[in-house]
Amino acid sequence: MTTTVAPHFQFKDNLLHAEGIPLTQLAQDYGTPLYVYSRQALRDAWDAYQQAPAGRSVLICYGMKANSSLAVLQEFHRLGSGFDIVSGGELARVLAAGGDAGKIVFSGVGKQGWEIRDALEAGVKCFNVESEAELERIATIATQMKTTAPVSLRVNPDVDAQTHPYISTGLKENKFGIDINDAMAVYERATQLPSLRIVGVDCHIGSQITEIDPYLDALDKLILLIKALEKQGITLQHLDLGGGIGIRYTNETPLAPALLLERIFAALDKNGLDHLELVLEPGRSLTGNAGILLTTVEYLKHNEFKNFAIVDAAMNDLIRPTLYDAWHDVEPVTRRADLPAQRYDVVGPICESGDWLARDRDLALQPGDLVAIMSAGAYAFTMSSQYNTRPRAAEVMVDGTVSHLIRRRETIQELFQNEQTIP
Ligand SMILES: *Cc1c(COP(=O)(O)O)cnc(C)c1O
Repeated sequence: MTTTVAPHFQFKDNLLHAEGIPLTQLAQDYGTPLYVYSRQALRDAWDAYQQAPAGRSVLICYGMKANSSLAVLQEFHRLGSGFDIVSGGELARVLAAGGDAGKIVFSGVGKQGWEIRDALEAGVKCFNVESEAELERIATIATQMKTTAPVSLRVNPDVDAQTHPYISTGLKENKFGIDINDAMAVYERATQLPSLRIVGVDCHIGSQITEIDPYLDALDKLILLIKALEKQGITLQHLDLGGGIGIRYTNETPLAPALLLERIFAALDKNGLDHLELVLEPGRSLTGNAGILLTTVEYLKHNEFKNFAIVDAAMNDLIRPTLYDAWHDVEPVTRRADLPAQRYDVVGPICESGDWLARDRDLALQPGDLVAIMSAGAYAFTMSSQYNTRPRAAEVMVDGTVSHLIRRRETIQELFQNEQTIP
């Protein structure tokens, strides 16, 4: 028997495993709720981006907000990855994980002075600049620091990524990037600022994109811009098409990175732009199906209308269902042929009606059972909170038959150790 979404989480003898380890074992060793990652799944997801046409290559700058645990960053660094960061905190994480500052691109609409200074000091590959005001700020700080800042303009190509409105970023009404029609003027302004070095152009149009057309539409628009820039004597070294490649949460057919790469390189070649370095910033597609959230059924509760499986994980551990109405497959860790399935809402203990992880699922469960919330490797732990004074979950990396605790569970004490009572 197989799970459909995650090849490295499979049933053996009716027991769900992470690679070579039964999840029952991990629950016993580390407790629940527990994030469990497969190292091989991270590597396989990485390999999917190494399928560029012969002789071509892409610099992957992992969109680390998807999963920024040090061990995950370290694994991608070892594989050769750069990083797409969106804060000074993420910069510090990359450096703590041994990452290479020269392969960092710094995105985000609200870069603060200290973040820009830290990034210049570290020597990032470039700033993905999201407004003219930010461009001026970076130039001023670089001048103060007697250095030059490498900049790429994040343009907003006004394409519809056909994804959830909260994760669509490439439309005119979104806060991200510089309107592509204004980009030429901002590049020209950048040429007047001696502390700036223009190195590229980028866009990031959204997340959980399953179609290729939005990428190709954005690429066409960027190519027109690049050619117009060349006419003005502004030459770029790289083109960054951002991240956003979707994954299979249940029955989606995600876009294959190999196909995307083939089509991008074909378009660059056709337009005489084969000298440009290609950069991508995938996040979700590198980690989403490499993780699960393992949780214990505390109670089964039945009323006139509904059956509830109340588990020890909650919306503070995984907010995607309630925030985006997102679907995660739910697998009972032990498959019970002897027990009839019932239709359950899988909910947490938090005092909010929005505290649900899955709705209307047919599951055969008993109190004390373990269930796995699948595809929880991206935008899962990183979005977790301590709401209801709940310690955040522990995280474990499985490598074959070995498990590594990569983040120990927080203690209750740690949740309020920075607080003071008043006289
Ligand atoms: C979030 C983000 C990414 C990663 O997006 P995914 O959908 O996880 O691939 C890449 N680039 C930027 C600028 C982002 O904000």
